[in-house]
Amino acid sequence: MRTEGGHGERRLQGLGIAPGIAIGRAFVSDNSAITVSERRIELAEVDSEQKRFARAVETAIKQLKKLKTKAVALPGTAAEEMGYLLDAHLAMLSRSRFVRGVERRIVEERANAERAVALEIESMGESFAAMGDAYLAARIEDVRVVGQRLLRNLTKTPYATFKSLAEGTIVLAEELSPADIALMDPKQVKGFASVLGGAEGHTAIMARALGIPAVLGIADLLKDAAPGDAVALDGTTGEVVLRPSAATHARFEKRRTAIERAGRGLARLKRLPAETRDGVEILLEANLELPREISQALSVGAQGLGLVRTEFLYMNRDDLPDEDEQYASYLELVRGMDGKPVTLRTLDIGGDKLAAPLAELMEGEGNNPALGLRAIRLSLKERSLLDAQLAAMVRAAAHGPVRILLPMISSVGEVRAAREQLAHVARRLKRRGVRMPDELPPLGVMIEIPGAALAADALAAVADFFAIGTNDLIQYALAVDRGDERVAYLHNPLHPAVLRLIQFAVEAALRAQIPISLCGEMAGDPRYTALLLGLGIRDLSMAPANVPRVKQRVRAMDLAAATQRARAIMDQLDDARIASLLDDFNELA
Ligand code: PEP
Ligand code: MG
Repeated sequence: MRTEGGHGERRLQGLGIAPGIAIGRAFVSDNSAITVSERRIELAEVDSEQKRFARAVETAIKQLKKLKTKAVALPGTAAEEMGYLLDAHLAMLSRSRFVRGVERRIVEERANAERAVALEIESMGESFAAMGDAYLAARIEDVRVVGQRLLRNLTKTPYATFKSLAEGTIVLAEELSPADIALMDPKQVKGFASVLGGAEGHTAIMARALGIPAVLGIADLLKDAAPGDAVALDGTTGEVVLRPSAATHARFEKRRTAIERAGRGLARLKRLPAETRDGVEILLEANLELPREISQALSVGAQGLGLVRTEFLYMNRDDLPDEDEQYASYLELVRGMDGKPVTLRTLDIGGDKLAAPLAELMEGEGNNPALGLRAIRLSLKERSLLDAQLAAMVRAAAHGPVRILLPMISSVGEVRAAREQLAHVARRLKRRGVRMPDELPPLGVMIEIPGAALAADALAAVADFFAIGTNDLIQYALAVDRGDERVAYLHNPLHPAVLRLIQFAVEAALRAQIPISLCGEMAGDPRYTALLLGLGIRDLSMAPANVPRVKQRVRAMDLAAATQRARAIMDQLDDARIASLLDDFNELA
């Protein structure tokens, strides 16, 4: 490829946030260049400055509404993503903390509108950053983007457009907003890179949703990039090369061909059933931590949410989420999944997962937090916590299929106590006259303590379903701290003890005719798929990104052969032999 602009190849390293290889010509954007005059105003100007700000807000609202009508036409999940995002931006412009903050600064600090906006962005950014939370860090980006829009409106600076670019363009910019990305036509824009931006931000989410390879956070990206320069970009590794040499160019081309070939295979799978060669359908579900991850679950074709870790609603904050806040979160998931099952697990705090607002309750949990007051034990001790969760879950169940899952169950008594609590909460909700489902949601238990697996027949008599949590099951069966890298080599899913516990639980569930799924990390690794299906599991729940590869494995396998191999494996006592029997099978089918 011919090179223009600066001199010779220049390699840069950033954060790869949307996978894929892009090779093309640079379009260098100066989208961030707004000339703003910040000044102190006289008392007499306060009123006119307030009005100027109100007009800028009004224009911004109109612009966002217009963008919303355009966003509907975006491909795939990008339309939905953009819709959520624009709603969030619109909310920020209607009597929000941000708008009130700017107005206050105009009056109290006598700042002109531009200065008031800039100061408010800065101060909100600082207070969000002080909370040290990735989710809030991403919200800073939203505040800045909305602020930039207001500054543009105040200074009447038009937006640079990414609408009509030459085919094969790679956009290089100081910062790109999600709205910028939405205007990009993937046929023209092959990739983009920017100086600012993080992997959690909406710009990154949009890039992934649109499938545009992208790299963010390259400090000296614009130093010697010139329009028309050849650029090669790897959205996985974060490598960006300006004016690549012939050898570099060939290296990127080779990777592009390999990725495209693999991607074509996996993407085709999305709409295909997760069905074995001998015609047995397997349920592949997603594990979710935060409601906002739902679009990823949907985009890979997950057939439900097999595990929602609600404890993440309690983290990175000082107060507890109340019933209404939880209801809103769960409802978002139920609506998002549109009739597919959503399994909400009650709080699993303790051990390696801690939350500030619960710190006091957890105090004195002893020297061995993994065996202490955690998960269901805490919920049953602090009934108000469980009440709020169960009430929110039952309310969400009025809008779609919800299952309630109890973590760290070790005894039948815990399940009975939780069920009584559920009935009590339901009666109270009925009295309150809130909308209820016709039937209470099924109440299931995690099988993640070896004792629970060994007593699975007893638990099956009181539970409506099982979900095996191999992460903890392995930790407790083999006495291996799952968070300690020094003993990580012992955390072995193929240990005969672990496999026997899984088998025990599966057989108890089958005998009792209750559903059973597996939602530990093991579910997302295609190496174990044949063995788990061979043991009788038909429902696997995993991180959304793993769904395509596991589906590929399911579709390549003959379940009868996998069942036979699982039997042979269960006769073995040595984990090395188990591993080789499994790996040989995986190579053949
Ligand atoms: C497990 O223990 O396997 C599980 C799925 O739960 P968590 O990882 O949240 O403990
Ligand atoms: Mg667990």
